[in-house]
Amino acid sequence: MKRTKLTLAAALALNLLQAAAFAAGDAAPARPNILMIVIDTLRADHVSAYGYKRPTTPNIDKLSRSGVLFRSACSQSNWTLLSFASFLTGKYPRALGMLGPGKGVSGFDYPDLPLGRNEITLPEALKKAGYRTAGFFTGRFNGPDYGFDHGFDLYRNYRNRSSDRGSPVKSFPAFLPEAYKWMAADRTKPFFLLLHSSELHRPYRAPESFVKKYAGDYKGALASTWLSRDVLSTIRKDGGGWSFSPEGSAEHGGPGGAQPASNKPPMRLGPADMEYIAARYDASLDYADKFVGEIIERARKSAPEDTVIVVMADHGEGLGDHGGVLHCTNPPRLYQELVHVPLIISIPGKWLKAAAPVIDQPVELVDLMPTLLDLAKAPRTPGISGKSLVGLISGAQSSEGFSGGVRPVFSETQGYGLTLRSVREKDWKLIFTEKSKDAPAKTELYDLGTDPSEQNDLTSRKPEMVEALRPLLEAWTVENDKEKKLP
Ligand SMILES: [Zn+2]
Repeated sequence: MKRTKLTLAAALALNLLQAAAFAAGDAAPARPNILMIVIDTLRADHVSAYGYKRPTTPNIDKLSRSGVLFRSACSQSNWTLLSFASFLTGKYPRALGMLGPGKGVSGFDYPDLPLGRNEITLPEALKKAGYRTAGFFTGRFNGPDYGFDHGFDLYRNYRNRSSDRGSPVKSFPAFLPEAYKWMAADRTKPFFLLLHSSELHRPYRAPESFVKKYAGDYKGALASTWLSRDVLSTIRKDGGGWSFSPEGSAEHGGPGGAQPASNKPPMRLGPADMEYIAARYDASLDYADKFVGEIIERARKSAPEDTVIVVMADHGEGLGDHGGVLHCTNPPRLYQELVHVPLIISIPGKWLKAAAPVIDQPVELVDLMPTLLDLAKAPRTPGISGKSLVGLISGAQSSEGFSGGVRPVFSETQGYGLTLRSVREKDWKLIFTEKSKDAPAKTELYDLGTDPSEQNDLTSRKPEMVEALRPLLEAWTVENDKEKKLP
């Protein structure tokens, strides 16, 4: 106890000394800049650094070679609002009160779920520690209405995707000039800059040259179809294969699946059509990656040794893996294509020496908040669920929360009358769907080591694994439930 107090006192003294150095205008920053690039809707397995078959991400790959790649990073939810709220506070969505009766994604009619003003966000904590902070966002669900502006000296939301059907989605080019200007404006303080790209979000609309590179001369049914949410949500698989309604759905999916708006029968889709959707997605990723390269070059040129760079996603995207596309689906899903996200952290050696270029242990996006606060030498905020990855990165024998190298990771979502949560420990993943009005509770168990795409539910064949994982999920639910009671 005495030892802990001494350590805390020493850390506090160090912080005060650093603050004094800043106040005196010390030219050499005592803390690194933090640049966080969040690519919305990017599933890890389409990033070439994560083994994808196409070279979609040369610039992200390059960053991974100068940094640490977390091979098994898990996002806390399958959609933007819950994921952003979670990684920007270091708390699980449940602990933020974001799940419960009347909440969640339903019929795309979202109730008001603001990120509470009483929650301390990462930019807020860094600002308090002497950072200047800016966030450039491109989505509705990380807008000021949901509380995402607090903590930023400069908050911008350039949400303009898919409004113009004739043009590619451009979020990076829309805000980067202003972001670069802000980055260079003041060198007396370290900065925290969050850049949120929507290039990969539906309708997967990259410039034509990128689409051609990946889709070739495809002339099928989808070539002339605007891939809106209405249309994409009608894509489904049944005994006859894939189909979709070019008219779109009337209400973003009714009970049990999207309902075509017209009386026209759904059109059949073949493998080439489904590949075309993935090709459009990959083209958008390649396009976004060009900007990632440009941003990194800018940041490194102005301060080569002073900027920690994080490249990550808030969640993934279904591309036909489990019977549909998109991420906010009916029913909601927590499969790997939705919660396995890329996470690369590049830290100049003067701030922290990484022991290995790749970390296999499962980690969570809630871990980013304590990790980045540690790197910024800023005090931890109360109630954080995540664990700092600093020890893991530096190869420390005993790393916070990683005893024996094993640690469970969790995700959760809610919508269309269903509540799902999942736990992964090593290669085993259990997904639990609560009992609903229309269906009994459901448990799924997958061995990600032999079945990474979760095609073989082993619940009945491996009851001992279900019994081992279920208590972890239940304990986590009780511990993090804001109301402190089970549903
Ligand atoms: Zn998102």
